[in-house]
Amino acid sequence: MLSTMQDEQLSLATLLKYASTFHSKAVVATWTGTGVRTMSYGEMGTQAAQLANALQSLGVQEGDRVATFMWNNNEHMVAYAAIPAMGSVLHALNIRLFPAQVEFVVAHADDRVVIVDGTLVPMFNQYLPTLPSIKHVIVANGDPASVTAPDGVTVHGYNDLLAAQSDTFDFPVVDERSAAAMCYTSGTTGDPKGVVYSHRSSILHSMQVCTPSGMEISGRDNILAIVPMFHANAWGIPYAAMMAGASLLMPDRFLQPGPLLEAMAAEKPTFAAAVPTIWIGVLSALAASPQDISHLREVVVGGSAVPPAMMHAFQEKHGVRILHAWGMTETSPLGCVAHAPAGVSGDEEWKYRYTQGRFPVGVQARLVDDTGAVVPNDGESLGELEVKGQWITGSYYSPQGGVIDPEKFHDGWLRTGDVGKITPDGYLTLVDRSKDVIKSGGEWISSVDLENAVMAHPAVLEAAVIGIPDPKWDERPLVAVVLREGAAADAATLKASLTGKVAHWQLPEYWTFITEVPKTSVGKFDKKVIRAQHADGKLDVVTV
Ligand code: AMP
Repeated sequence: MLSTMQDEQLSLATLLKYASTFHSKAVVATWTGTGVRTMSYGEMGTQAAQLANALQSLGVQEGDRVATFMWNNNEHMVAYAAIPAMGSVLHALNIRLFPAQVEFVVAHADDRVVIVDGTLVPMFNQYLPTLPSIKHVIVANGDPASVTAPDGVTVHGYNDLLAAQSDTFDFPVVDERSAAAMCYTSGTTGDPKGVVYSHRSSILHSMQVCTPSGMEISGRDNILAIVPMFHANAWGIPYAAMMAGASLLMPDRFLQPGPLLEAMAAEKPTFAAAVPTIWIGVLSALAASPQDISHLREVVVGGSAVPPAMMHAFQEKHGVRILHAWGMTETSPLGCVAHAPAGVSGDEEWKYRYTQGRFPVGVQARLVDDTGAVVPNDGESLGELEVKGQWITGSYYSPQGGVIDPEKFHDGWLRTGDVGKITPDGYLTLVDRSKDVIKSGGEWISSVDLENAVMAHPAVLEAAVIGIPDPKWDERPLVAVVLREGAAADAATLKASLTGKVAHWQLPEYWTFITEVPKTSVGKFDKKVIRAQHADGKLDVVTV
């Protein structure tokens, strides 16, 4: 028996119409360094219609890819609103990729048009001659004359282009399974891989982001979206904000702790999202120059493990609750969020909040061992995490056909490459990436646990742990430490501080002091660089 319910397609065009009318007064504000320039959701709707008309006049059709090379700002939000709603595919380019990677992803996605921020034009000019699929460059917040255009490329000014267009557009409701947006993973090895989100996955994911078991976003929020719009669609925040009628505060290019804090002081956001490295920097800046940030009701942090010491510092010194979350580009990205269950408090509550989170109904999760067998969710057995669900990719984009990276999929599940354990009530704790796991004398050492323990020392700003070859134990951990400015602590002191926090045999004997942990294009610790530096003998290692 079928239901009597209507078969309405889930659609980002419907979302745009809803947000720009029923939440027309919600605001997108972009930080300019001294204040904000604002756009209401109503104005966003008008500009989205103008952009859609403009793109159509440039020949963009349903299914065509339109790239952005932009900071998080008003114009990027208009692109987010317009491009999928007109049935085309939004491809937010990671502005921090290496030139060869930009060349690869633009060719792979076959991007025809790109919208570029004026301040990024000097960088983009270097790439443009290697991007033959691009026929039109639209410059937002800058001078189109600054683009050095190769033959066959036409350059447009964003404002002039939009001003010439009608401010209405008949946004089509396309098949909900059609492509809406794509992101390439920042892949540590090999070519970047494309993940294509559908209208259906984007809407369902946004609903999950808004729920209390997600990020609890509501129309009362003003969200500081620090996570770049090219990193897993800013963790889904733009569309969730439109769904909830929440306002957005966009940091544009002002991503250093000082300017972020100035933007917070002026605009008092209630919610924010970014990777741990950003928040570690913000904490240091707050220590040097205290400021009330208790207007933040919650801050979601993920992308890499959140050090418990950082969570405590935010809560106890600044009254700000950190919400730990796990996800991947492949999972839209929301996988799980660490809300403690009802009825727990104190240390018990913290134990839940340290985890990567509890899976929502939309994310099925299991752990498998080296042989591919499922291990129990008993809170102790370790295995590789596999997930499936409505907003989890079932493959990588492959324009030429053929399956890219088939080993990432296992009987319809996505293999995450993350190793961890799951409690019977669905809380995930990750101990490592499978490729970062340290095996010492046949036993696993969690680099994440060691990093968290070292980062709990007051003299330590950042710590990254890698496995290095050891004649007796096969592998032992090497701790790369960045000390806080003006702080002092030697390897013996730091090692001593770990006693009682990690098993005795796990206490690391190899230490190196560095000035900065190398970071990936999305701000995570780049351990492959540390491994290469160690292999090349570039690190001064002390043994204690
Ligand atoms: P990306 O697709 O670049 O966002 O990378 C996804 C990967 O980031 C995951 O597979 C994890 O290895 C890592 N990651 C994301 N969130 C967390 C977290 N809360 N704790 C530990 N690792 C995380």
